[in-house]
Amino acid sequence: MSKEAFFEVDLNTPLGPIRGRVSVNTGPMGLVELVPTALELTNMLVNRARKREEKEGKRISCQAGCGVCCCQMVPISAPEAFYLADLIESLSPDRREEVLKRFEVIKKELERQHLIDELLDPLYGDDGVMPTPKKYFFLNLPCPFLVKESCSIHPYRPVACREYNVTSPPSWCADPYSYEISKVPMPLPLSAPLASLTAQLTDSKPRLIPLTLAPFWVVENAELQQRQWPGLELFQQLMAEVGKPWLKKGGRP
Ligand code: SF4
Repeated sequence: MSKEAFFEVDLNTPLGPIRGRVSVNTGPMGLVELVPTALELTNMLVNRARKREEKEGKRISCQAGCGVCCCQMVPISAPEAFYLADLIESLSPDRREEVLKRFEVIKKELERQHLIDELLDPLYGDDGVMPTPKKYFFLNLPCPFLVKESCSIHPYRPVACREYNVTSPPSWCADPYSYEISKVPMPLPLSAPLASLTAQLTDSKPRLIPLTLAPFWVVENAELQQRQWPGLELFQQLMAEVGKPWLKKGGRP
C-alpha cells in the first residue's frame, strides 16, 4: 500500500543551493516513480543556468515551434524509458497508434542502417567520442513526439531535452556538426544518477537508451519495469547519486 512521507532535500549545486520538501511514497515503488523528482530538479537547475547566461548578456535562442534539435539522438535513462512507455500507454487509442507507428518507422530505418546494436550498446572511438549520434543525426529521423515542430509531450519530456538550451543562432542547430553550438552549461544531467542507480540495483553497467528505441527496450525489460523497492530507500539512493558530485547533506523524512 502506498504511504507518503516528506523528505528534506538540501543540495549544494554549482548553480546554488536547492532546498525543499519532497513528498515520497514510502510503500513499494518502481523506478519510474523517481522520474518526476528528477524532472523537477532538472527544471530548477535549467532555470538557474538560463538566468545565469542571460545575466551574462547571452540570449537563449530556443523557442516554441523550433524543433530542429529533435532529430538528434536523445539519450534517456531506464526509468525515463519506463516513464515514456507509461505516457504512450495513456494516450488516446488513435494518438497512441500514430505515435507507435512513428517509432516503428524509425526502428526499421535504424535496422536497415545496422545501427540498433551500436545504439543500444554504444561504442566509443579511441578519442572517447561516440560516432553514433552523428550518423543518427544525418538520417533525419524526427522524434515521434514532434508535431508541427513542437514537442507534443512538452511537460513530460526527458531530462536531455530540458537541458538542451542554446545561445548560438537557431539556424546552426540544423547542422550541429558544422557549427560550434553554444549550449547553456549544465552541471550534471539528471539522467546520469537515474542510470547509475538502475545499474546498482540491477548489478549492471550504467546505460542510456536512445529515446526512439525506448518502447522496444521497455518490452524487452518488462521485468525491471515491474520490479519494486521500498520507496524511501529508493528515493534516498537517488538523492545520494544526485548529490555525489555536490551533495551537502541529505535530509530525513
Ligand atoms: S521529446 Fe519533445 S523535446 Fe524531446 S526530442 Fe522529442 S519532440 Fe523534441
